[in-house]
Amino acid sequence: MDSQINEIKSRIDVVEVIGGYVRLQKAGANWRANCPFHNERTPSFMVSPSRQVWRCFGSCGEGGDVFSFLMKIEGIEFVDALKILAQKAGVILKREDPKLKSERRKYCDISEMAAGFFEKNLETAAVGKEAKKYLKERGLKDETIKEFRLGWASESWDELLNFLIAKGYKAADVEKAGLAVKKQNENRWFDRFRGRIIFPIFDLHGQPIGFGGRIFKENADKEAKYLNSPQTFLYDKSKVLYGLNFAKQEIRRREKCVLVEGYMDLIMSHQDGLKSCPEFGL
Ligand SMILES: [Zn+2]
Repeated sequence: MDSQINEIKSRIDVVEVIGGYVRLQKAGANWRANCPFHNERTPSFMVSPSRQVWRCFGSCGEGGDVFSFLMKIEGIEFVDALKILAQKAGVILKREDPKLKSERRKYCDISEMAAGFFEKNLETAAVGKEAKKYLKERGLKDETIKEFRLGWASESWDELLNFLIAKGYKAADVEKAGLAVKKQNENRWFDRFRGRIIFPIFDLHGQPIGFGGRIFKENADKEAKYLNSPQTFLYDKSKVLYGLNFAKQEIRRREKCVLVEGYMDLIMSHQDGLKSCPEFGL
């Protein structure tokens, strides 16, 4: 992988890439601009063509190579910057480990199907409709419910499980995706989320990777109010911030981020125009 990164770097000019985002002015052997990562009147952002690096000598003090610039300005992860720059450089990336890739794909597909299943339930199932009514009473608009892909998991013990098995998945895979629980000492599984409003948890690109479930009948006090997916292959709780996929551009633009606690608070503040993300899973 390192050799591919070096190959990309050798074919790409950092001045050209950065010049696509900020207006650079010649300053001796280097180029200079107003730093795109903090507000300033006097340009202190420097790009060196000979060393192929950039650095802000102003208050943010950021710096790095063409990869870090693209990650920061686009708000993307390294792998995505790699793909973009590889294409620009005409470098064909060696494939990821196909086994790992297909595993990831499998759990992404399971999570996506489950999200769609829960969404449909919210529209069509009898109690699902009640749950939707509750969400609307709490102030959520139809388009917000759609945007955040809220859903309903019925009271059934195996509705989702049967749906996914019918799609060709094994119960053990559904368990690994965090959506089913295995009965102790038995070869049987049941749905993790039952009788709950479902909040899909997305990665930065909007792919559902985990779920949060909330009971909505306040008298159902024998159960925990919230239930979340466990740590899984896709869902690394230490790295995921609920709502960040909706807010990432706005956070970069404003250099500010408001953390709120809980799904409903986040969705409400998003709906009200404050694109924030809650403290979650930290
Ligand atoms: Zn700066």
